[in-house]
Amino acid sequence: MDTDLKRRLLEAMIATVREHRDELTDLDRAIGDADHGSNLERGFDALAAQQESLAASPLPAALAGVGRTLVMTVGGASGPLFGTFFMELGKALDETPTRQNVAAAFARATAAVAARGKSTAGQKTLLDVLEPVAQRLAAPEPTALAEIAGVAAQAAQATVPLVATRGRASFLGARSAGHMDPGARSASLLIAAACTVLEGGRT
Ligand code: ADP
Ligand code: MG
Repeated sequence: MDTDLKRRLLEAMIATVREHRDELTDLDRAIGDADHGSNLERGFDALAAQQESLAASPLPAALAGVGRTLVMTVGGASGPLFGTFFMELGKALDETPTRQNVAAAFARATAAVAARGKSTAGQKTLLDVLEPVAQRLAAPEPTALAEIAGVAAQAAQATVPLVATRGRASFLGARSAGHMDPGARSASLLIAAACTVLEGGRT
């Protein structure tokens, strides 16, 4: 993967986190502690500072670097989870990934997040977005990238009625229903940003 594409992927993810910081924090205010937007922004600001060296690195090393930085800077429950996701992607993605390689790497990274969070889909977390996207990527028929972004957005929306059984939101019990999970929303935004760039669209 060339440096320019890696740079544009990073830029798009940084931009979406900055653009949606307040929205993510508001979602976390409803069912958490109102820091998800600022947590992620701190991590993606750190990535912005390393953008050139990350983009110039081979894809596996770049993803490992993204993951490490997120683990070190995001904090909260979500930092290690998002960090794990990118680090595992880096272990499994080839320098020039095929569709099958992307599907396998995404599935592996999702499984690593589940193991790290001791969580499964249905518990109102980012896994409720990662799992359906992993499944769609693994479908025998290729799915358009715009459709993958749609799967992610719909999956985030589908966390609204769920009762949280992991993370801070679980402290609210039944009162966590009726709000979108902040981590599910941020995961869907990052996936959408990546899809837009990979589709060839400029963000
Ligand atoms: P914190 O909850 O420590 O304040 P954040 O606000 O940054 O951290 O992130 C909250 C998000 O992290 C939740 O919306 C949820 O998606 C995700 N999350 C929290 N705990 C877990 C877990 N055990 N497994 C998977 N995801 C989790
Ligand atoms: Mg929080």
